[in-house]
Amino acid sequence: MPCAFHIQTTAGPGRRGQLVTPHGTIETPVFMPVGTLATVKGIPQDLLEEIGPEIILSNTYHLYLRPGVDTVRKLGGLHGFMSWPRAVLTDSGGFQVFSLSELRKVKEEGVTFRSHLDGSSHFFSPESSMEAQIGLGADVIMAFDECTEHPADARRTRESMELTLRWTARSKKYFEDHKHDVPWKGLVQKDAQSDGAATQSLFGIVQGGMDLALRRESAERTIEIGFPGYAIGGLSVGEPRHLTREVVEATLQHLPADKPRYLMGVGTPEEIVEYAALGIDMMDCVLPTRAARHGLLFTSEGRISIKQARYAQDEAPLDPKCPCRVCQRYSRAYLRHLYAANEVLAQVLNTIHNLSFYLDTMRTVRQSISLGDVPRSPLAARQ
Ligand SMILES: [Zn+2]
Repeated sequence: MPCAFHIQTTAGPGRRGQLVTPHGTIETPVFMPVGTLATVKGIPQDLLEEIGPEIILSNTYHLYLRPGVDTVRKLGGLHGFMSWPRAVLTDSGGFQVFSLSELRKVKEEGVTFRSHLDGSSHFFSPESSMEAQIGLGADVIMAFDECTEHPADARRTRESMELTLRWTARSKKYFEDHKHDVPWKGLVQKDAQSDGAATQSLFGIVQGGMDLALRRESAERTIEIGFPGYAIGGLSVGEPRHLTREVVEATLQHLPADKPRYLMGVGTPEEIVEYAALGIDMMDCVLPTRAARHGLLFTSEGRISIKQARYAQDEAPLDPKCPCRVCQRYSRAYLRHLYAANEVLAQVLNTIHNLSFYLDTMRTVRQSISLGDVPRSPLAARQ
């Protein structure tokens, strides 16, 4: 049985729901922190549990290269290997092949690419991506797609979309034939509502570049193949922000209302609120964790670059409205000192705060929708 999705309330197009996975129930709309290499950088898993995400994302491309899928599978899949009892989502590896590796060659069968680590040659196909994602054992896994570059002309965008559709059908076929090979088979409770054992859930990905007609066609044909959830891919690839929103809004109209909708790779605190209000249920982005490591902190009063000299003697907490353990305990002056001295703890504390801020933002969004209010950005009043 794949995951179940229940919508409890709506506010405009925004939806408040629950995604039930083999490793716990996820309150939606949800922001998923990124743990690329089976770690949310700098944060041990017990602390991560306290910060509160119900699901995190890991990257198949990186784990395939290091430590290798077989190693993770033998150690119980990602849940066992990294000792994370809650839900995990993996991407297909496609996006990283396109964004990180050099000398990639795309053919009908799949993509040949060179590792960004040591230049060794590898091959990803829909089948090998599914095999890797089944071995990693995430709760939600993604069909293998081609992320269309931007800009791309009409012919290229259509060809890329058609290739993704063929790869999507192959992904589903391989998954259906092998879904019971997941490493935690038998270790999680069976779905109480049915006789079937819990399985991973494979989501399809809508492509089609910035062409709204192709987005519609991609959505309709992906739905025909049939998945328990749908992602909108191929955005945040350098296009202007108003275009991202336009494509998301247009694509959402063609996705089934009763299935989770996942917007990949988005976004800023303002954007995650905006997209939740439009009816997106799931989002992920490296921004809060990556920005934290570079000293960029998101607060209820706007962005703070903690490296600035103006904070050198600032006794105030980073964000007076934030209940996180960093804001409860440390001053801006101390955080600025740690960052300036290049201390490891700077990355840890900054990441704790930024993740807490993102998760609190989504908690507020869910409360708003529960009350029938359209969610508004925590910074909207200031803009
Ligand atoms: Zn904080």
